[in-house]
Amino acid sequence: MSKFWSSFARRVDPYTPGEQPRDQKYIKLNTNENPYPPSIEALRAIKSNCNDLLRLYPDPNSTALKESLAAHHALELKNVFVGNSSDEVLALAFMAFFVQSKSLLFPDITYSFYDVYCKLYGITYKTIPLDDELAISIEDYKRDNGGIVFPNPNAPTGRFLALTDIERLLRDNPDVVVLVDEAYVDFGGESAVALLENYANLLVVQTFSKSRSLAGMRVGFALGSEELIEGLERVKNSFNSYPLDRLAVAGAVAALQDTRYFEETRQRIINTRQDAQARFENMGFLVIPSKANFLFVRHKSLPAQQLYLDLKTRGILVRYFSKPRIDNYLRVSMGTDEEMAIFFDQLEQCIAQ
Ligand SMILES: *Cc1c(COP(=O)(O)O)cnc(C)c1O
Repeated sequence: MSKFWSSFARRVDPYTPGEQPRDQKYIKLNTNENPYPPSIEALRAIKSNCNDLLRLYPDPNSTALKESLAAHHALELKNVFVGNSSDEVLALAFMAFFVQSKSLLFPDITYSFYDVYCKLYGITYKTIPLDDELAISIEDYKRDNGGIVFPNPNAPTGRFLALTDIERLLRDNPDVVVLVDEAYVDFGGESAVALLENYANLLVVQTFSKSRSLAGMRVGFALGSEELIEGLERVKNSFNSYPLDRLAVAGAVAALQDTRYFEETRQRIINTRQDAQARFENMGFLVIPSKANFLFVRHKSLPAQQLYLDLKTRGILVRYFSKPRIDNYLRVSMGTDEEMAIFFDQLEQCIAQ
């Protein structure tokens, strides 16, 4: 604590990202990054925009990217919001919709940034336990609330909640925002964007970080009714008028257009996940069914923390959460098939020793 810190700075409890070590070269299966490079078209667009125009501020509305996203999702410009990463979009959405008297609801096991935002803004919240299979049970959300947020597929479980369930949440909660964080939806889930035409209270948030291999570029977006997008714009324009730089807009537009590469890489990751699930099961792991680019697994006898540490000494990073209910699970991001072969080889040795 410093005497210079405001009550605001004192109150916050910052998010801890997965390790990004620099001391040695690891096989990184711990932060759900995409193992494949970004689209060549995206890299080309970024390079060709490295020019004199960087002297000038970018378009404050990032219209070129909004237009691409609107066309891509068969929506109108007024239904699209963009930001410097989906974390930023989420932070703005929490500010725009959830700072109010009633409690925000989200699962007890979920993306750990949600409670960080709640503390930052002083939002009261109630966590709703996942069921014994680590699935969201929508019956448990039938209570007075000031909004609902969850990732779909959920993180770190990877479980996908059916759109029929999401539709019930939307119908049961017409006066609050239901935010569906679709960071991983491109790996086999189904987007709630299809429900937008019928529900003004739905906000869908997506990112270029995972399925578009652009975590280093920081581009995220939200899709929703005109009134929700307007709410986001009001908050964004009170905070940062130019969140997206020229290179990010050019790169994101080009990545979105490179459909072939996108389809190819996401399908590869889905295939890797299917192979990895079978492999884990053969080695005595319980595997939570996943529609994400990672698997959440528990060994039948060996403690997760020990496996995590053993793998680390062998140059492989996976994610371990020392949190109630999940402290015996490992979250393993899907790497390339070569990386996964080394991973399973090393894992076998950890188990045998
Ligand atoms: C990775 C992730 C994000 C953040 O994505 P960025 O756009 O890189 O900020 C948001 N939500 C969930 C659930 C994630 O796993």
